Amino acid sequence: MNKMAKQTQNMGKLVTIVHLYPKEMNIYGDLGNIITLKRRLEWRGVGVVLKQVSLGETEFPAGDIYFMGGGQDNDMYSVFADLIALKKDFLKNEVLKGKVFLLICGAFQLFGQYFLDASGRKIAGLGLLPLETSAPGDQLRDRCLGNLLTVIRPGIAAEIHKAYPDAVYERKGELPTLVGFENHSGQTYFLDESIVPLATVKFGKGNNAKQKIEGAKYLNVFGSYSHGSLLPKNPHLADYLIWLALKNKYGTGFDWLQLDDEIEWRAHLVMQKRLEKNGK
Ligand code: GLN
Repeated sequence: MNKMAKQTQNMGKLVTIVHLYPKEMNIYGDLGNIITLKRRLEWRGVGVVLKQVSLGETEFPAGDIYFMGGGQDNDMYSVFADLIALKKDFLKNEVLKGKVFLLICGAFQLFGQYFLDASGRKIAGLGLLPLETSAPGDQLRDRCLGNLLTVIRPGIAAEIHKAYPDAVYERKGELPTLVGFENHSGQTYFLDESIVPLATVKFGKGNNAKQKIEGAKYLNVFGSYSHGSLLPKNPHLADYLIWLALKNKYGTGFDWLQLDDEIEWRAHLVMQKRLEKNGK
């Protein structure tokens, strides 16, 4: 199918994407995740309402998908107090309702218990995810920095299959991979088993320098250290998030079209093959 929206039973359907702190928390191309979600919904004939939520705002529409991008330490210092004071109660309810969240790097960290930077400054997080993040040092060697190639954990891959059947990797009998890149000082560790890794690291560091795990899934909250942005070159993950949001809102009453992702997979496989060949 070409990527023009077909006349489907999706006409009249609407998905609200809430973009948290678009100015303050948006580095290394993270905005591309919003663009990908929006276009992949529109290519399926679904209308998209995009609501940007910034500092000081307390009233905003309930989203079907929430997105928050990464940030330098100072960016995080500029939003954490506002996030906790003005957004926490609402976002906690949305998380518990099973709403879809995509949190990249600094956002992922801020939804946890705290972020402790290399200078010893500790800022509280929302405490909505059972994880904590500390920076081991302020040298370049202390950073998790470079390209990322990860393999999605089997349980999550089985869920993704529902939204993205007959993928190129399935025809080869492989688990789905994610490509991207990371640049963070903070290293994240989970506090209990209610949160699970999104993927296993094949190249790169991921959540920390020890466990070879990357990202997280907690209810329908997805965290990742992968910038780039994450979704354009990982259409299977993009579609899984969209499918979850449509299922939350419309049950089975939506027309789920498979898109032609030939270009997306070409971009994915260029990075995957390069990392598998050279390791960087
Ligand atoms: N400032 C945080 C860290 O260095 C997050 C960085 C990011 O969002 N890329 O760990």
